[in-house]
Order: sequence, then structure tokens, then C-alpha cells
Amino acid sequence: MNAQDSLKLWFDQNKRDLPFRNKPSAYKIWVSEVMLQQTRVAAMLPLYNQFLLSFPDMESLSRANEQEVLEHWRGLGYYSRARNLHKACQIVTSRYNGRFPETLDEALEIPGVGPYTARAILSIAYGKKYAVLDGNVKRVVSRLFTESDEKKWQILADSFLNNEHPGDHNQAMMELGALVCLPKPLCAKCPIQKSCKAYAELTIEKYPPGKLEKKKFELELHFYLIHKKGKILLIRDSSRRFFKKLYTLPFLIENAKIPAKDVINYSNPSYMKEIIQNLKSEFIPGSASHSITHHKIKVFLHKIIHDLPEDSHALHGFETKWIDFNRLEREFPSSIAKKILKFLPQNGLFQE
Ligand code: SF4
Repeated sequence: MNAQDSLKLWFDQNKRDLPFRNKPSAYKIWVSEVMLQQTRVAAMLPLYNQFLLSFPDMESLSRANEQEVLEHWRGLGYYSRARNLHKACQIVTSRYNGRFPETLDEALEIPGVGPYTARAILSIAYGKKYAVLDGNVKRVVSRLFTESDEKKWQILADSFLNNEHPGDHNQAMMELGALVCLPKPLCAKCPIQKSCKAYAELTIEKYPPGKLEKKKFELELHFYLIHKKGKILLIRDSSRRFFKKLYTLPFLIENAKIPAKDVINYSNPSYMKEIIQNLKSEFIPGSASHSITHHKIKVFLHKIIHDLPEDSHALHGFETKWIDFNRLEREFPSSIAKKILKFLPQNGLFQE
């Protein structure tokens, strides 16, 4: 029996009976993954079951109003996760008729869906051949192949995938990391011990290298093109976590996966929420990746299709300027501006 088959057999015999593993739809897996981002399985299960009773599919969640969704999220905390899931479901409903897309590129364009979530949904719901890489799987892969270089782990995880059962394989790898290949591993119980290089070479303690602990924080920056009489709004706010000295497009930080003690540094100022929430915005399909020291960032763009009121008090108290759109790169001198321009539609952006 090869290592993949041994792993699957072990998983079949040892897996925890979790409701999102029974006849998993893309939607159910998605909800469970979002809920599990900052909540333990035991605490999340009763709320998950209740949530699914009220919103059994993508369509019902999309149709619900935000207040209803937030009420069903009570007990899980981090309400921005619920808001983002709700909005993202609406995007999937309108762009893909309520069916979660089947390609990795399309899945990654959905706000809130990162590589791990996309790969988990596509492999478990649709049997697509994508290996997942969460913190537990990274530890297993690093030891299995005695590989210290984080950049190679995804390729190695893909090479180790069980192509006939990618969804089960991914869950088995995560379960193995959670139950057996722990920081202090229980190798005697490991179904893939015979294939493990670190075990054979007695070098387990070297893998994964310490730098795994210093991983990058993942988050999303949602920029807003607010236009008025052909000009777009830039702001400068030295109190924010990013772009303290630069004029930028107004932005919100969303889906930040950061330690609870640091959350305050990433909160969105109330004036920004006021501006964005009072105006009707339109999501512009596309996304870009970006890095700012210790941050792995996904960039999204929205267009605000209504003008701000002339005397909007929301615009007082920080620096603003209205610029011609074609000066965006010059006035917002970050490579993010360049990346944003790449996924803008070529024409019709500001037709009123
Ligand atoms: Fe992890 Fe030990 Fe199994 Fe290797 S043999 S994968 S170190 S539990």
C-alpha cells in the first residue's frame, strides 16, 4: 500500500464525525471554513448547525438582510467575517448563479476566499486536484520531505496529493497534523511513517524551521474609487496601519488574520465605514496580490457610483483631495496603484 492509501485508510478509520463532512456542498464547506477561522470546532458546531437551518444554501444567505445574518452569527464573534461571507455569497450568486466557481483563479477572485479556503472547497466539494496547505499540513509536508523552504511546500503538497480522492486526502492531511504530526509528533501512530524522511533521518526537530512561527499576516485591502464630476477621491490619514504618509484611494481592511491582541491596529476608522456604507458601491471583478512587510495582502476594488454630498461631514478631519483619474499612479505612488489599474475595465468606468 502506498503512503496516500495508508493515509486514506487511517482517515476513514479515525476521522471525527463532523456535520460539514457529510455530503459536503461548496457552500457548507465555505461556511464551516469561515466559522473555523477564529473559533474551535466544539464551539462552532452548534452555531454552524443553526446557521445552516436558517440559511441552507447560497441563495438563502444572499437574500437575507445583513441584520438577520449577524443575528445568526451571535456567539462566534468577529462579525466582519459574517458580513464578508454574506457579501461574497451575493457576488457568487450574481456572477455564478449561486454555484461556487470550479476554477482556482475564479475562486480566488471572491473577497474573503484565500488559497487555503479555495483549495479546500474545490477539492472537497468538486474533487478538484488541489492540495491544501494550512498550518498543520505545512508541518507534515516539511517533515515528510525534509524541506525547510516554505516556498516549496505547496508544490510538494500537490505532488503528494491522492489524485483519486483529493478531498479526503486534504482532510486526512489536516487531521494528521491536528492529531498525530503535532509539534511533538506521535510517530508511532503515524500512517505515513514509512515514507517520512525526517523520521528516517532522525531530524524531526529541524522541521518545520522556526521561521514558520514568524509567518506573514494575511489580510485584504478593499479600495474604493469614489468619483465626483470626473474626479476621484484620495485621502491621507497618518493614524492608519498602512500608507500613513501617502494619499491613497479610500480603503477598508477586511478579513485580517491577525492575533487578537493586534486587532486594534487594523481596525477601520469610523469615518471610512460611514463613507462606504452610506454610498452604493459596485464590486469590480479582479484581484491582485501585494506584500507589505510581514503582510500578505489581497487587493480588491470597488466603484462608488453615487457622488458624496457636497458638505459630507464624513470627509472632515483628515486630508483629502480630488484628482483626475489619469493621475492616480502619480498621486498614489505605490505599486498597489499600478496593480489596481491592471484589472480596471478599459472604458465606461465613470459613465454617469
Ligand atoms: Fe510526522 Fe512522525 Fe508521521 Fe513523520 S512519522 S509525518 S514526523 S508523525
